Amino acid sequence: MEKTKKTQTPENCPKCGSALGSVMETKSGKQFQRCSTGSWNAQTRSVDGCDFIKWITPEPKALDEKCPKCGEALMLTVTKFGKKLKKCSTSKWDPDTRTQSGCDYVEWIKGVTEQLNEECPDCGSALVMYTSAAGKKMKKCSTNQWDPKTRASSGCTYIQWQK
Ligand SMILES: [Zn+2]
Ligand SMILES: [Zn+2]
Ligand SMILES: [Zn+2]
Repeated sequence: MEKTKKTQTPENCPKCGSALGSVMETKSGKQFQRCSTGSWNAQTRSVDGCDFIKWITPEPKALDEKCPKCGEALMLTVTKFGKKLKKCSTSKWDPDTRTQSGCDYVEWIKGVTEQLNEECPDCGSALVMYTSAAGKKMKKCSTNQWDPKTRASSGCTYIQWQK
């Protein structure tokens, strides 16, 4: 069996031609690459060297969910500001005519909850993995519910923050 290794060709800065640095992440979960010749100077609060920054926009991910408007599959997209939204996979943006075609269903999400195959150490119910819009993860008990009316949570309070 021959293993095909994906060699990523290093990308160069469009401003000065130097190699780009490694992918970094802001506090809010946005990913970017800075030109390797540039570095942040905390004293002058400006960039020494080349100030090129490439923001990385993650690819949309197909979801196992149907659009409530038209029944087609939903996609999960992340804006370059780190905000997540679900939108209909039939939605297309045409850059030539600057119009949108297809279904216009959009749902902004604050966080994603995934079912886990683990039991809560406190009460034995299933655990869920909650990922906030900023990319922070925590495991919590599936019996824990937030009631927006009473502004109180009910159920088991088990929470484990992930690193
Ligand atoms: Zn550069
Ligand atoms: Zn739709
Ligand atoms: Zn529990």
